[in-house]
Amino acid sequence: MQIDVVTIFPKMFQSPFESGVVAKALQKGLVQFHFHNLRDYTTDKHQTVDDVPFGGGGGLVFKVAPLVRALRDIKKAEMKSRSILVSPRGEPFSHDKAQALSEYDQLILFCGRYEGVDERFSDYVDEEISIGDYVLTGGEIPAMVLMDAVCRFIPGVVRQLQGPHQDSFSRLNETLLEHPHYTRPRCFEDKSVPGVLISGNHAGIEAWKRGARRNITLQRRPDLLKKAQLFEAVEDIHGRKIRDKQS
Ligand code: SAM
Repeated sequence: MQIDVVTIFPKMFQSPFESGVVAKALQKGLVQFHFHNLRDYTTDKHQTVDDVPFGGGGGLVFKVAPLVRALRDIKKAEMKSRSILVSPRGEPFSHDKAQALSEYDQLILFCGRYEGVDERFSDYVDEEISIGDYVLTGGEIPAMVLMDAVCRFIPGVVRQLQGPHQDSFSRLNETLLEHPHYTRPRCFEDKSVPGVLISGNHAGIEAWKRGARRNITLQRRPDLLKKAQLFEAVEDIHGRKIRDKQS
């Protein structure tokens, strides 16, 4: 996969991907990142990327023409490509969205700044994505969030067999939060590891993990539990239909 980022601050992307799992994926060539300075797509000698908004109001707005020029230059016709503007007004980012985006050959991410981006640019990108209901000073950190989350789904990037498919929010975890983890020592101060985890009883361990997932989700994210119950109901109806057809 290739990820292209259009930003006025390409240097911001240097250190976050110099360490860890994504750095290794870059070294192995499992993913490639290309950073493009939006100013390189301007035509005036001052390399102006922004202007005052029509109708007044504070702040500056990214001009549409350099953005469209960048998109047309970077998009590879021969690749399965998806262009994304990160924006607080976009579709909320999620586990499923990260997985879906990992199926593309090329992602092109546009980072806004100041008051945002001329609205007409929305007609040129495939979609707008938000990383949450808060406003950051620029689109670089949201773009990094997308890049990191998407990379985890590229085969070979995460080492374990199931990898991101068994983390919190995944179908294997019934779309719930993940169960807690423990490692040595068995006892720290007055806090012991749940006995079942050191019992060697695999069925008991699986049952404990399932219960723990449900408990922690109920405490912290009851909205996810409702979603999981809906999934279960739909899968059950689907399963029953298949069984009815077979009988
Ligand atoms: N005036 C805009 C609004 O109220 O929706 C906010 C502009 S924000 C200061 C500048 C840029 O940061 C946005 O164009 C977007 O690219 C990025 N950004 C800020 N918060 C974001 C979020 N929650 N998700 C995705 N991008 C965000």
